[in-house]
Amino acid sequence: MRSEILEVNNIKYNVKIFFEKRNNSSASIRKKSINIRIPLSLNREEQFRSILKMKQWAKEKIQKNPQKKDIIKEYKDGENITIGNKGYILSISYKKKQSSFARIENNTIYLVISSEIPDDKQKSHISTLLSRIIAKQRLPDLEKKLHELNKIHFQAKLNKIFFKNLRSLWGSCSEKGNINISTRLLFAPDDVLEYVYIHELAHLIEFNHSEKFWGLIANAMPNYQEKEKWLKQQGENIRF
Ligand SMILES: [Zn+2]
Repeated sequence: MRSEILEVNNIKYNVKIFFEKRNNSSASIRKKSINIRIPLSLNREEQFRSILKMKQWAKEKIQKNPQKKDIIKEYKDGENITIGNKGYILSISYKKKQSSFARIENNTIYLVISSEIPDDKQKSHISTLLSRIIAKQRLPDLEKKLHELNKIHFQAKLNKIFFKNLRSLWGSCSEKGNINISTRLLFAPDDVLEYVYIHELAHLIEFNHSEKFWGLIANAMPNYQEKEKWLKQQGENIRF
């Protein structure tokens, strides 16, 4: 393996070049690296040209589809936030304490932030703290809802439900019957969340995106396309 650095759009990619027993050259782009695979059978000059070509391809591809930066929402003291279909007031204060804590009382979410958190970490610290307290508050009801929807529409074997910090997916499910839901959805309206549930539950029956699969969804939620649209349009804004 050979390795070099390629900078595109101000991002330094670690280019790893592998020489392998294969027929064609290939390149794949990861978050911070590019893997190039070159057939061993090529002579030196052909290898050289092939590597150049693959690097050029990767560069153009990255320039055409620039990486979306994870934008962490900034929460402010006194701000109104909506969670599901309910409104809350956010109270953020700072204390000389080793650790931060959060609690919900009536319609107020209190975040007490440790003064030991450095300034540049505060934004993500606050959003993590907030998502944790909301998950704790909403989880029992959300789990109940998922089981209810399953009972009504699918009667599938449903094992465990996890809320995970999924960045690029809204939800996923495994053949064991486990369902993972992105914590990003804790801030989505209830009907959108319900759609993601139905989507993942339908996968417990149809492990693909076939016509039959979409038929199951349409049966359970006839207006599901509106929710898909919401996820596509608004989804980007509910990162936290
Ligand atoms: Zn799916």
